[in-house]
Amino acid sequence: MVHVDQAVGEFSGLAFQMNQESDPPGRWTPSPLLLASGALHLGAAAAVFARPRAWPWALGAVVLNHVALAAAGLWPRSQLLGPNWTRLPAQAGITAGVALTIDDGPEPDVTPQVLARLEEYGACATFFCVGERVLRYPDIAQEIVRRGHAIENHSQRHRHNFSLLGPGGMSTEISRAQESIFRVTGCRPKFFRAPAGLRNPFLDPVLVRLKLRLASWTRRGFDTVNGDPDAVFRRLAHSLQTGDILLLHDGHAARSRSGRPVILEVLPRLLDALNAQGLTPVTLRSALT
Ligand SMILES: [Zn+2]
Repeated sequence: MVHVDQAVGEFSGLAFQMNQESDPPGRWTPSPLLLASGALHLGAAAAVFARPRAWPWALGAVVLNHVALAAAGLWPRSQLLGPNWTRLPAQAGITAGVALTIDDGPEPDVTPQVLARLEEYGACATFFCVGERVLRYPDIAQEIVRRGHAIENHSQRHRHNFSLLGPGGMSTEISRAQESIFRVTGCRPKFFRAPAGLRNPFLDPVLVRLKLRLASWTRRGFDTVNGDPDAVFRRLAHSLQTGDILLLHDGHAARSRSGRPVILEVLPRLLDALNAQGLTPVTLRSALT
């Protein structure tokens, strides 16, 4: 709750900044939940002003509202705080396309082998890379792009407290990663994925300003914590269909019993399953209309 309280304190300043942009790249529009939250805060303040004895009710309403906002931020696939790709958009005209997204790299022990598996299958993937790791392993990042995959923004440092940051902190993490990835690869990310998928109400206006779209996933394998390739594969491959966005990890990958990163054991099976169902891996950005 602390982060939401801090966030609310900075909210009016951010809204002012947004309105001051002469030509914003697509104006930020608050989600219905954020609009309702703003109205509730104003209503609570007005109620206390008119009837000071009503303050416990007003405070209770505001606290409940903050609980709802925090819950929305802890739910990675939520649309309550703003637009969020959980599937490829139907209007993109992609038939039989599925997006493989691979997070937290580049990782020298894993990513080159992932690239080799993808090459064997002629498959494209989207790598949500961490900016400082792109700077540390520029050759791998360049190889990802050279092979026709996309690199998108997964923040500069993958801070575990990302969802507790205010708008300034979020903006720094995301814009620094934009710079790192562009400097190394010459490509500018078009999507952002929050570390662990966790966020707060300040993320959406920052993404609008930086011309980024938020992407989460349809299903994830929990392959950073589960070393059982069968379980990870089952989670990802059940009820596969066009438009799915699937999440795996090359960075922070759990190890299987044989000591191999789980993604390397799951990826061939997943690509076989996609082939068997006539589904084609595509990058997220190929679905932009
Ligand atoms: Zn991550």
